[in-house]
Amino acid sequence: MPKKMRDKVKDLLQQEEEQSGVLVKGWVRTRRDSKGGFSFIEINDGSCLAGIQVVADHKLESYASASPHLHTGSCVAIKGNLVVSPAKGQKWELQASEISVYGSADAEKYPLQKKQHSFEFLREIAHLRPRTNTFGAVMRVRNRLAYSIHKFFQDRGFVYLHTPIITTSDCEGAGEMFQVTTLDLSKPPVNDGKIDYGHDFFGERTGLTVSGQLEGEIYALALSDIYTFGPTFRAENSNTSRHLAEFWMVEPEMAFYELEDDMDLAEEFVKFLFRDVLENCQEDMEFFNKRINKTILETLRNVVDHEFERIHYSDAIHLLEKSSEKFIYSVEWGCNLQSEHERYLSEKVFKKPVIIYNYPEEIKPFYMKLNEDHETVRAMDVLLPNLGEIIGGSQREDDLDVLHKRMREKELDPEEYWWYLDLRRYGSAPHSGFGLGFERLVQFVTGMENIRDVIPFPRTPKHAKF
Ligand code: ATP
Ligand code: MN
Repeated sequence: MPKKMRDKVKDLLQQEEEQSGVLVKGWVRTRRDSKGGFSFIEINDGSCLAGIQVVADHKLESYASASPHLHTGSCVAIKGNLVVSPAKGQKWELQASEISVYGSADAEKYPLQKKQHSFEFLREIAHLRPRTNTFGAVMRVRNRLAYSIHKFFQDRGFVYLHTPIITTSDCEGAGEMFQVTTLDLSKPPVNDGKIDYGHDFFGERTGLTVSGQLEGEIYALALSDIYTFGPTFRAENSNTSRHLAEFWMVEPEMAFYELEDDMDLAEEFVKFLFRDVLENCQEDMEFFNKRINKTILETLRNVVDHEFERIHYSDAIHLLEKSSEKFIYSVEWGCNLQSEHERYLSEKVFKKPVIIYNYPEEIKPFYMKLNEDHETVRAMDVLLPNLGEIIGGSQREDDLDVLHKRMREKELDPEEYWWYLDLRRYGSAPHSGFGLGFERLVQFVTGMENIRDVIPFPRTPKHAKF
């Protein structure tokens, strides 16, 4: 047994019997004084959504010195006995025997006095927002999802792979890269009118990774099933509620998987995660259902209980073309689907998750496997209602000649990808993988509208302060 530092509120609230000699530490949420000579103090320690109600008799020896500091936001330690509460709506309360204050919080100045604050305002106090109900709940659910991602893959024998954050590869335009350099930007070394990266730290131009896929493929073709789960960076200037400049991505890569197997795994994965949260984060999920999105529980249960729709890109285009919906971007075969199209398909047409696959070769990167029609590639996107794309994946091209040809068509230098081509030269195998945006997942599960509110410290254009 690990050493017991204190009693967590979560454990106390789940007790079966009354208990003496309890020690609670946490932050005061509310305080109310009764005429009968008692104070009622709600303490939250983040272990769960609910706080514990502390009843402090004004006759307690420690009360007089503690009382002036018992405000919303103060941090306290309270010894006492856990007893059945006579009050409505709570099973337990803590009868205090001793109160001590770690740090008080000025009642006039503490920014979280009011019950309700806008999420915009809370983003400006990112150092205090974790003390609100919503952010506590988001971070506990986020934590559970991270755990459950590892559980899903570990139970299936996948190896957790750490791919580099600093890299020279932009994963073929997956997104704009942030540059990493130690050059003096006020006077960089120049050769022939161009910056000479030979003098840079790594001797060539480097940036922050936009995807671990290419490195993942290397290890999948040795360990067979791997997954990455780490920070990913995109310098795209998309100020949307679904894009971050720094986010976390989960990227499994599997040898011997074809596109159908890849789609099966993606569907099983999403359902596993949703089911796990429904079972293990009940209190927080009920909070989201009440306060953030009134249908989120129903939505998650629906996803878990039904098969995802799977349609070819060409059929998706047909459906969009013949729909009477007014889209901002027009649709024709060969176009990239916009988020309005993706949402229309999953929300209006199928009313459930949709996997679109077999995309036109021209709009997808060189590494996706060419279909026999020579027009489409074995790519797939998983779309969720109200969110759009959560997963993008593909079967990878495993034929050396086809890969060469596609690289030339896309004006890429095979020399630069010699190692990637080597994988097709020596022991090539069919293989597939996908990338799931972790924050999009947390966003969908919690029903939070803005992706900035599901990561502790969001990085977005013009914002990296804290
Ligand atoms: P989108 O079209 O939505 O910008 P994408 O097609 O560029 O996404 P992929 O390169 O396929 O994204 O990345 C795989 C997954 O990573 C996406 O399905 C999404 O869940 C997530 N993702 C991509 N870009 C971002 C971002 N800027 N912020 C948060 N998540 C992202
Ligand atoms: Mn994508």
